[in-house]
Amino acid sequence: MSSSGFASAVMNPISEAMSAGRGLLELRDFAKNAEAVKHTADLLKALAQVQVELINKDTEIRDLKELLKLKGEMKFEKVYFYKITAEGKEGPFCPNCWSGSGKVVHLHPAGPLWWDCLTCNVKICEDREESDRRKSEINRRYQTTWFD
Ligand SMILES: [Zn+2]
Repeated sequence: MSSSGFASAVMNPISEAMSAGRGLLELRDFAKNAEAVKHTADLLKALAQVQVELINKDTEIRDLKELLKLKGEMKFEKVYFYKITAEGKEGPFCPNCWSGSGKVVHLHPAGPLWWDCLTCNVKICEDREESDRRKSEINRRYQTTWFD
């Protein structure tokens, strides 16, 4: 398991402390004192837990930095998101998935002006009038079918 950032800065002192503790346990006279052995073993266990926690925190910090970078790259345009980086523009991505769960999900073309998200099943129209027209058409069909 590798570490970076804060964890790597304190990992060497922790490793040195663990090495010193193991050295104490190996001393013949020290090993005769059961209480000293128990406290040293507890200390080693606590240091190992600190190491694991530091690595977890570094992973969390790295993930949050990536999310922060991604949030800076995601730009809303018309009705969907694009990811804009030094390499270029990527997308469009689903605004429902990005806003709701922070997932970057490609939209799939579904005809002129229309896009589908295969993850959340949202249908997105680039044109507000077309979208309203389609919705009212569906409402009319639904009512006609329903009341016939
Ligand atoms: Zn979606």
